[in-house]
Amino acid sequence: MDILPTSQYYLPQENRYEQIQYRRCGRSGIQLPLVSLGFWHNFSGVDTLENSRAMVRTAFDLGITHFDLANNYGPPPGSAEETFGQILKKDFLPFRDEMIISSKAGYYMWPGPYGDYGSRKYLVSSLDQSLKRMDLDYVDIFYHHRPDPDTPLEETMRALDFIVRSGRALYVGISNYRAEDAAKAIKILSDLGTPCLIHQPNYNMFDRWIESGLLKVLDNNGVGCIVFSPLAQGLLTNKYLNGIPEDSRAAKSSSIFLNREDVTDAVIQKVKKLNKIAQEYGLSMAQMAINWTLRKHVVTSALIGASRPAQIEEIVTGTQKPPFSEESLQEIEAILAE
Ligand code: NDP
Repeated sequence: MDILPTSQYYLPQENRYEQIQYRRCGRSGIQLPLVSLGFWHNFSGVDTLENSRAMVRTAFDLGITHFDLANNYGPPPGSAEETFGQILKKDFLPFRDEMIISSKAGYYMWPGPYGDYGSRKYLVSSLDQSLKRMDLDYVDIFYHHRPDPDTPLEETMRALDFIVRSGRALYVGISNYRAEDAAKAIKILSDLGTPCLIHQPNYNMFDRWIESGLLKVLDNNGVGCIVFSPLAQGLLTNKYLNGIPEDSRAAKSSSIFLNREDVTDAVIQKVKKLNKIAQEYGLSMAQMAINWTLRKHVVTSALIGASRPAQIEEIVTGTQKPPFSEESLQEIEAILAE
């Protein structure tokens, strides 16, 4: 795509790379910001383009270089990639080389036997569709979005290797793979000569499965880790402490992933106790939840979602605060274990 004179695009803050720290992604040449921005919610065809655009501008101004997408993010599926493509074209084309853009395939995308899971046929054609929607020549990271119990792991990993060799992606990753399958996938990719850059699992104070095995596998193999839903989709913020706001994710009942029933008394009581510790540190609950995921050095980046620019600002500002003391970490443990 032709790039117009720079003055035709968004002019980002010059000091953006001083706003956030970067961590090396495993044993690779890539560094990622401590906070990355995901496009799962609030960037789709039913959302306001201007709000989505404002969030990307805010993120980039704060040094967030990594934007995470997937073929199916919407609704409708694919529309988040289209939104990203529009924002890139309007605001950021001169800055493409300052960004790490990822996409994925692995969940249902189109009817018939070739639009889901982990075949080479699905992964390659899905990425070609994603590139068209975003109007990109390549993505920086392409992920297999979830393990496929029926396709041989070798086929899926060979497809990832082919995707890199064909120039469609610079690096590859896996997502939602448990420790044992992750170790196998990492080994196959390494043997093929296309190392696995990164794993994308869910991780937050309420869901800590990666601590029992996966983190060790990643650390031992020099693979980075970007954790999704670090705020438990908003539960680990002060948003729900006095009821369920109408403009929140839990109130938008279209979401099958977080709904009113998830906002239980038990959860709120816990968050209130955690929030007290956050206040002692001069942090908001959301800031504490993010810094807590980043206390582990194997975690390269916390992959947040947002519905407005101020939320992104709050989280990035929080990462500038000093780390937790051992005593506070133990207090947090005690609350989480209740
Ligand atoms: P989070 O846990 O960060 O939840 C984001 C939500 O939390 C926001 O939409 C907002 O809710 C609320 N929030 C964010 N910041 C604040 C704040 N400062 N104060 C109060 N509330 C706040 O992450 P997501 O669940 O959105 O996931 C993040 C990304 O991870 C996705 O966009 C996607 O890229 C990736 N992902 C990957 C998956 C995979 O299988 N690989 C699966 C799921 C996600 P509200 O909208 O109510 O304002």
